[in-house]
Amino acid sequence: MDTSRRADFADPASPTTVSFRPGDLEIGDGPRTEGPSGQNDDELVRLLAQWGVDQRQWMVGFPVNLDFDYRPLADFLAVSLNNVGTSYGPAGYNISTRPFERQVLEFFTRLTGGDVDQVAGYITNGGTESNIFGIHLGMRRYPDAVLYTSADSHYSVDKITWLLNLDTVKIDVDDKGEMNLDALVEACVSRRDRPAVVQATVGTTMTGAADPVAAIRGRLVDVGIERVHLHVDAAFGGLIIPFIPDHGPWAFDAGADSLAISGHKLVGLPIPAGIALVRREHLEMVASHVTQVDADDFTMMGSRDGLSPLMLWWALRRLGRDGLARRARHCLDIAEYAERRLGECGAEPQRMPNSVIVSFRRPSRAVLATWHLLDSGDRTHVIAMPHLTKDHIDRLCHDLQG
Ligand SMILES: *Cc1c(COP(=O)(O)O)cnc(C)c1O
Repeated sequence: MDTSRRADFADPASPTTVSFRPGDLEIGDGPRTEGPSGQNDDELVRLLAQWGVDQRQWMVGFPVNLDFDYRPLADFLAVSLNNVGTSYGPAGYNISTRPFERQVLEFFTRLTGGDVDQVAGYITNGGTESNIFGIHLGMRRYPDAVLYTSADSHYSVDKITWLLNLDTVKIDVDDKGEMNLDALVEACVSRRDRPAVVQATVGTTMTGAADPVAAIRGRLVDVGIERVHLHVDAAFGGLIIPFIPDHGPWAFDAGADSLAISGHKLVGLPIPAGIALVRREHLEMVASHVTQVDADDFTMMGSRDGLSPLMLWWALRRLGRDGLARRARHCLDIAEYAERRLGECGAEPQRMPNSVIVSFRRPSRAVLATWHLLDSGDRTHVIAMPHLTKDHIDRLCHDLQG
C-alpha cells in the first residue's frame, strides 16, 4: 500500500488508536469518494474495519465479545428492516424480522427460568433501554414507589432516575460486592408507606458480583412489604450465571418481574442491542394498539431495529444453550488463569467468586491504552470474554513486566 495515500492510521507497533487528518472525513457540498490528499474512501473504511477486527488481539478491558462474524447476513444491509411495535402481532410495516425476534425472546425466557406463556418482551437498543423498560413498568404499577438499587449498580440507573423523576436509594454492598439485604430491608421499612421497585444487579460492572435475587422478595414480605416490583439487571451476568453449576434460581424462577440482558456483550454484535423481558401480566397497563403504525405496542421506542434480532437469532441458533455454556466455562477458565498469572507477575489481582472480572494494580498509561483497559483509580480490570485466550493474558503479563 502507498503509505503516503493512507489515512493517518494506527502505528502497527502501537495499535491503540485511529486518527484521521483534518478534512479526511468532511462531507462537502458536492459528492466525494476521496479525501483531500487523494486517499480513497473504500480504502479508508476498509482500513478502519481491519483495525477494528485486529483489536481482538488487544481488547481485554471491556465487557464485549469480539469473536463474531455476521458477514453472511450482509444482504440485509440493503433491506429497510423495521420491527416497529411488538414482535407478537402483525404491523402495518411488514419488512421485518419478527419471527426471529420471537425465537430469541423465547430462548432467553427459558434461560431465565420463565414460562413462554407468561413472559414477553422485545429486543432493545441495549441494556440501558432494557432497564428503562423494566423500571418504567414497575413505576406504572406503583406510581409512588421508591427505586432501590445497589451502590455498585450500572450508571444507567442515574439516567433513569432523572428521566422518570424517581426517588432512588442506593444500598451499600457487602465485601462480596452484593447488595446488603439487611440494609435493603431497613431502607424499605423506613419508607414502608411507599411501594418498592427494586433493581437487583446480576454481574456488576466493576466486580461481576450478583445480588441475591431469590432472597429479596421473601425478606420484604417477611416485614410486611408486599407492593414490590423486582427488576433484574443481568445485562452483563445473564449469560454467565445460568451456567454456573448449582447456582439456583436467579431470574423469573426467583421472583423477578422484569429483566435486562445485553446482546452485544457476551453474544457479541457489531451494534449494541439488549433483551427486555417482563411478566405478561404487567403489560396490560402499557399495551395499546397504535393506529399510526397499525401495530400492538408496549415498547419504549417507535421504529425498532430488525437487524440485531436477526443477528442474535443467527448467533444463538449456531451456539445453542450448550454452546453458550461452553463459552461461559471458557470465560471463567480464562479469568481463573488471569488471576493466577497476574498474581505471578506481582499485579495484586482480585476476583469475586464466579466472576469473569479480574481487577489488578493499575499499570502504565501505555499499557492501559494498548490493552483497552479502563483507569479506575489505582486499579484496572481484565474482563474475560469469549475472544480471550491464555495468550492474551501471557502477552499482557509480559507487557506489565516490560
Ligand atoms: C452494560 C450494562 C448496562 C448498560 O448496557 P448498555 O447496552 O451499555 O446500555 C446496564 N447494566 C449493566 C449491569 C451492564 O453491565
